[in-house]
Amino acid sequence: MTPTSTISQAKQALGNDLYLLGHHYQNDAVLDHVDLRGDSLELARRIPDLAARYIVFCGVFFMAESAAILATEGQEVHTPRADAMCVMAEMAPSVLAERVMQRFLDHGRKIIPLTYVNSSAAIKAMCGRLGGSVCTSANAATMLKWAMSRGDGVLFLPDKNLAQNTADSLGLPRTSRHILDIRKDGEAFSLEATDKTDLIMWPGCCAVHFRFRTSQIKAMRTHYPDCRVLVHPECSPEVVKASDGAGSTSYLIRECQEAPEGSTLVIGTEINLVARLAAQHAPGKTIVPLSVSSCANMAKTTQDNLAALLHRIQAGDAPDPVQVAPEIAEPAKLALERMLEVCA
Ligand code: SF4
Repeated sequence: MTPTSTISQAKQALGNDLYLLGHHYQNDAVLDHVDLRGDSLELARRIPDLAARYIVFCGVFFMAESAAILATEGQEVHTPRADAMCVMAEMAPSVLAERVMQRFLDHGRKIIPLTYVNSSAAIKAMCGRLGGSVCTSANAATMLKWAMSRGDGVLFLPDKNLAQNTADSLGLPRTSRHILDIRKDGEAFSLEATDKTDLIMWPGCCAVHFRFRTSQIKAMRTHYPDCRVLVHPECSPEVVKASDGAGSTSYLIRECQEAPEGSTLVIGTEINLVARLAAQHAPGKTIVPLSVSSCANMAKTTQDNLAALLHRIQAGDAPDPVQVAPEIAEPAKLALERMLEVCA
């Protein structure tokens, strides 16, 4: 049997017991099979309403972990490749983040931790316990304003670029921001240096978006003089400033849909999404990548390993589902629910 027929057969046999979710950065061969494709926020929002016994998440591990946290009792969340880790999420180990937060607490400053959804469940749990929350690239400005209204300052994890770009969009002065030095087990930075700042940023970044350069934008503008350059806010602030617009994957998709026929759009994000948009809108619109940058971990999920997973579920031999210990899941859920409430 081909992977396609295995997947179709399992979907038919399992019916409403199975629901497949896929992130926009997955390849077409995988996304063709999912029930819902979306960005992190769109997918997280749907989890509490799903009735299926088996939820299969095609993305990276933190997404499946968030789904497991938001799923109801009796539901199992599976992912074809549990070793598909987000490089950015890995840049914020929870033990180190807890140590840094403890230093702020001991110093007497009420710092609210706000984590980008691209983070481990343990980081989300820390945010839940310490009065903070979670954000996505689509709602980062709303959530940063929310967090700033609740304490003396905000620790934004793990993406310094999303933090800087969001702060720029809110007009927060550069002088009130500080990128943390997390060396020496979180002891390297001076608390006094952070005292005068409202936004403290963890020094993480995305392995895909950090590759985009202003020189590439310049070259594209020379090649396509009438183009619009649109990028994801995980790109550096310099790249975002040199672009014509920045926003989440949903924003990029919408801009391509709404652009008039004959437009040329240069898109700076993961190549699977850009290639899909280019194919969808050809020949009326020209959509090209700012440069080809792909996520090696998103690419670990294939039609073959999706078929193998569904075959096992159908045969009653499902692998262990994604599990999050209750002492982590509970505060992490609180952090996620605060975001869903604020952004309802
Ligand atoms: S594209 Fe970047 S942020 Fe998204 S999963 Fe890959 S490394 Fe993580």
